[in-house]
Amino acid sequence: SSASTPIRATLFPGDGIGPEISESVKQIFHAAEVPIEWEEHYVGTEIDPRTQSFLTWESLESVRRNKVGLKGPMATPIGKGHRSLNLTLRKELNLYANVRPCYSLKGYKTRYDNVDLITIRENTEGEYSGLEHQVVRGVVESLKIITRQASLRVAEYAFHYAKAHGRERVSAIHKANIMQKTDGLFLKCCREVAEKYPEIQYEEVVIDNCCMMLVKNPALFDVLVMPNLYGDIISDLCAGLIGGLGLTPSCNIGEGGIALAEAVHGSAPDIAGKNLANPTALLLSSVTMLRHLDLHDTADRIQNAILDTIAEGKYRTADLGGSSKTTEFTKAIIDHL
Ligand code: NAD
Repeated sequence: SSASTPIRATLFPGDGIGPEISESVKQIFHAAEVPIEWEEHYVGTEIDPRTQSFLTWESLESVRRNKVGLKGPMATPIGKGHRSLNLTLRKELNLYANVRPCYSLKGYKTRYDNVDLITIRENTEGEYSGLEHQVVRGVVESLKIITRQASLRVAEYAFHYAKAHGRERVSAIHKANIMQKTDGLFLKCCREVAEKYPEIQYEEVVIDNCCMMLVKNPALFDVLVMPNLYGDIISDLCAGLIGGLGLTPSCNIGEGGIALAEAVHGSAPDIAGKNLANPTALLLSSVTMLRHLDLHDTADRIQNAILDTIAEGKYRTADLGGSSKTTEFTKAIIDHL
């Protein structure tokens, strides 16, 4: 595959530990001969008037053009007059679905060793529409927006994902018994899409029951699709099942087939620049990016090298109880390729 023309992908190394863990990804991709050519973009030091953000228009254009990218953590700059970096990316690139694979890492013991599920979160509306106001003193109101268009779009992505990845079941998570109109519409859209995928089992699970089932036996689930707020909470719950945010990858799917993979954690200013960061979450995010590109063999090779290194236990970063530096852990992964 190294002989084929390289695929251009945007890389935002980001802030704090971002550049160190991005370096780890670049070295491992180089060693594995992944046919990717990175276009690096940093967050600016001034507001770009065209985006009203520290992210430049050129950076956003790079993702739009390449349709695929990897994002390190970005520290939110303090001060007024600019849009949050993550919000800018989500709005400008129309990142409508957040996909988080959660699987047990062999050799890293948690309460369960059979977790293998995917959460797919609607990322543009619901309770996070930002429509809140005070009605009168002591009474406030927040609007939960659910649209047919956004619900069909995320449901379609979930079923498409399930089919493309050989998954058997999609569970729609909801509270339609109480939120009859909003979650009711979300479910109606999921049902419509489910009709088009008879080979994928479809079920509907009430959110409270879903939480109970997930902590009792996560193997009961396969692919979960849900509105924004439920997705925010459930995806962190699932991350906790496998060992926490330092290990959890994610990928944002946008309009026109854009995929922007990112680690779930932040810029970790407390350990930045000290060669202590664990690059696993960003690395596994880069693996989701490779899967999006259908480079499954390369994705498997890199994923296995990461998991084998962690399982072997000789080289682990401090957050996993080891004493290896970022660069030593990276080298160990390269040796396992
Ligand atoms: P954080 O995730 O950066 O750090 C929380 C704790 O986890 C720290 O002790 C840190 O050292 C540790 N940690 C995180 N990632 C690690 C890794 N890969 N290896 C080892 N240890 C790791 O959360 P925070 O401190 O709340 O936020 C710091 C900054 O990051 C803030 O500016 C915040 O806005 C930003 N942030 C960005 C994103 C993003 O870009 N998606 C997400 C969350 C936070």
